[in-house]
Amino acid sequence: MADSSGKVDKKVKKEYNKGRKEKPLDKGEWTKSMEKRLIYFDYAATTSLDNEVLEKMLPYYKENYGNADSLHAFGRKAQTAVDVARDKVAELIGAKPSEIYFTSGGTESDNWAVLGGAYACKKRGKTHILASQIEHHAVLSAMERLEKEGFDVEYIPVNAGGRVEINEVEKRIKPNTGLVAVMKANNETGAIQPVEEIAKLCKDRGILCFSDCVQYVPHRNLDVNELGADMVAFSSHKFHGPKGCGVLYIKKGVSIEKLVAGGEQERGMRGGTLNVPAVVGLAYALELCFKNNQQREERILALRKKFLDKVLGLEGVSLNGSFEQDEESLPSIFNLRFDGVENTSFLYNMDLNGVAVASGSACASASLKPSHVLTAMGLSEGQAKNSIRFSIGKDTTEEEIEFVAEKCAEILQKIRAKK
Ligand code: PLP
Repeated sequence: MADSSGKVDKKVKKEYNKGRKEKPLDKGEWTKSMEKRLIYFDYAATTSLDNEVLEKMLPYYKENYGNADSLHAFGRKAQTAVDVARDKVAELIGAKPSEIYFTSGGTESDNWAVLGGAYACKKRGKTHILASQIEHHAVLSAMERLEKEGFDVEYIPVNAGGRVEINEVEKRIKPNTGLVAVMKANNETGAIQPVEEIAKLCKDRGILCFSDCVQYVPHRNLDVNELGADMVAFSSHKFHGPKGCGVLYIKKGVSIEKLVAGGEQERGMRGGTLNVPAVVGLAYALELCFKNNQQREERILALRKKFLDKVLGLEGVSLNGSFEQDEESLPSIFNLRFDGVENTSFLYNMDLNGVAVASGSACASASLKPSHVLTAMGLSEGQAKNSIRFSIGKDTTEEEIEFVAEKCAEILQKIRAKK
């Protein structure tokens, strides 16, 4: 790798050239290619597929490619793999296998919980649905749909730290409240929500409680019994598993409407041929994730500290949200405000330097609208547009932390000098 003076480690260069079929790179070309290395600070958007996970998946693409619903030997092999994966996921999160439903990802799981939950509540005369203001668009869009269909939807505010306060939930509950949706960790700020308390409140009043744990599961080991929610969603590509595969946990005894109509898959609750390789990959990725979460969290906490010590020392830089206590946020996601600097321009300059960061949720990054999460926390639209989400993960190195912190300083200076 090139050092700060551009010098290249001879051993690394030799290894690199050994792998090249064409003519070896000369020194100038090498330095240029190293400058082009990419740094990924967008783990909350997605993660790379773990090699070991891919290895587990491959046989289900190539040799055991049967449809899990077929009765012949090919189908039985696929079905066995799905059964093993379901048992594994259930064991890891403290659930029963019959409470695990495989879906196409976080968005489908969120949609199913909110819409399917609300439709079931309506049958019992309960049409008031609550969700926090900072939910992912997969929940908020479902809420908008419910509103158009005549449901009474209401949003729970958050405090300046980006957290839902329990009294704000309690005071909104009505006799016809059917469902409360509050995510466990926010995808833009990392703020952790008091879902355990909210679930208890709901249970005491016979209200369904749903928690989107898509960002939480990659960092903390989830136990659905401790969480207490009736439904929980998570998505494999956030923890180094394959894209397009997720889970909706539905607690035994909780009845919701099905959304995806088709065959009798997933015990008649979700039609569609199961993506067997992805299901196998999800279960294995979750196992690896839970095995390493605690140790990884400590490392990431130290990396975050190093980064913030450097960047928060720069003029006009502040943290959106607060995490005086580490329990209140995931160390892997943090949101910074760079006064007077448009996030689009900051992102563009970071990208020119090979650094991938985000202005917020990947699903909303094409939109020029300010983040609904940050404005819910009391930031002005202008402040929200000056904000950047950084998300780090298992492969982030100290060297990258230093490089990105340096680039923050350079880019700020460059953009501000132009004004
Ligand atoms: N919920 C949260 C909190 C997310 O961060 C995301 C993705 O960014 C989703 C849901 C949607 O998940 P998926 O990308 O698997 O559809």
